[in-house]
Amino acid sequence: MNELSIPRPNNLDAFWMPYSDNKYFKDTPRLLARAEGMLYFTPEGREILDGTAGLWCCNAGHGRREITEAIQKQAAILDFAPTFQLGHPIAFEAAARVAELTPEGLDRVFFTNSGSESADTALKIALAYQRARGQAQRVRLVGRERGYHGVGFGGMSVGGIGPNRKQFGAMLPYVDHLPHTHLPEQNAFSKGLPAHGAHLADELERLVTLHGDTIAAVMVEPLAGSTGVLVPPVGYLKRLRELCDKHGILLIFDEVITGFGRIGTHFGSERLGVTPDIMTMAKGLTNAAVPMGAVAVKNDIYETIIGGTAAGIEFFHGYTYSGHPLAAAAALAAIDIHVRDDLPGRVRAIEDYWQEAAHSMRSAPNVIDIRNHGLIAGIELAPLPGKPTERANRVFRRCFDDGLLVRVTGDIVALSPPLIIEKSHVDRIFTTLADAIHKEAA
Ligand code: PMP
Repeated sequence: MNELSIPRPNNLDAFWMPYSDNKYFKDTPRLLARAEGMLYFTPEGREILDGTAGLWCCNAGHGRREITEAIQKQAAILDFAPTFQLGHPIAFEAAARVAELTPEGLDRVFFTNSGSESADTALKIALAYQRARGQAQRVRLVGRERGYHGVGFGGMSVGGIGPNRKQFGAMLPYVDHLPHTHLPEQNAFSKGLPAHGAHLADELERLVTLHGDTIAAVMVEPLAGSTGVLVPPVGYLKRLRELCDKHGILLIFDEVITGFGRIGTHFGSERLGVTPDIMTMAKGLTNAAVPMGAVAVKNDIYETIIGGTAAGIEFFHGYTYSGHPLAAAAALAAIDIHVRDDLPGRVRAIEDYWQEAAHSMRSAPNVIDIRNHGLIAGIELAPLPGKPTERANRVFRRCFDDGLLVRVTGDIVALSPPLIIEKSHVDRIFTTLADAIHKEAA
């Protein structure tokens, strides 16, 4: 033990770990106890290079002093105050700052505590808006296969991941899904936006034929992260936008991963050239130092919901911690770093190098596809026969033991490092990963 080591917990039993193989973990625990910049450290002080920005969220790197100090300062000024029928200054400041970064016209910001809450809030706003503008028949919601919108009932139902639903049975009614955009035959090893698949948006036209004017909103990730980095085909989002406009349907982008610089602009919509009506965010909003999410909406949506009520509460929705002072302080400090250090610009400066490094993995054994955009990459491995996910899980463990944190989803290794990454880190990520893949193939 050196002075930087942190004791391992004596008891691993009580914490029911989310989205985990609890039995496996508790037999062979891999713990992260400290973090700084691009690095995590195990309790014993072993260095782990962070190839995933935690969970796609620590965009400015770890242990940013400005954020820590802002949280400490705010905690001493005001620990908590409600935002139901009252307010505290820093929540308004944080909302105004978020609105400066969102695309023009999306200037109203509703605070939540997570990506899941943001997804459910966005869906409820969409339904409330349709009612407020006299379209109460619009109760249907459309998601997309392989979409991830968190774990609330709204996000789970509109999300398109079978395993996330199969334990629960009950889902929201009136939900349909567009096909996912993963076309391995045509698009394998595409760099950036794949060429084929814009036509997959046309499925929305078919749903309109089926359901008429009962669709309230479509929600998609502009670039799907959690289900293995599915980059939108050229023209796909534009087509979706056009169809939504044509049929009076709201377009919601879930920017929980693509927000705050990940693909080289403040939000993904900017880089991808399509503006949604409603946008969710979380993760990078506070650099993950304090949980916080938000939903930004077009002014007209806000005005319609607020204006549709004669007096009293206009929107029956909110969280005790909406706009929590410590989260708002963290958000203001994180946004300061994002702007001052031009994190989106850093992504654009290094993304070509990142892309080439990611695609150099093509020569590693069992690599069947590579996808990337901005500072995201997905390396898809051929599953071990009869054992889906096992090969990628083994690669994950080997990487960790060799000092690199990656994320796996199915048989895809997903990478999304902090946006402060340098070329030497990029080299180290792909050398370690290639080595792990080679060893697992041996
Ligand atoms: N939406 C998207 C696109 C996400 O990637 C995630 C989390 N990975 C969520 C929603 C859910 O966020 P949270 O885990 O903060 O609830």
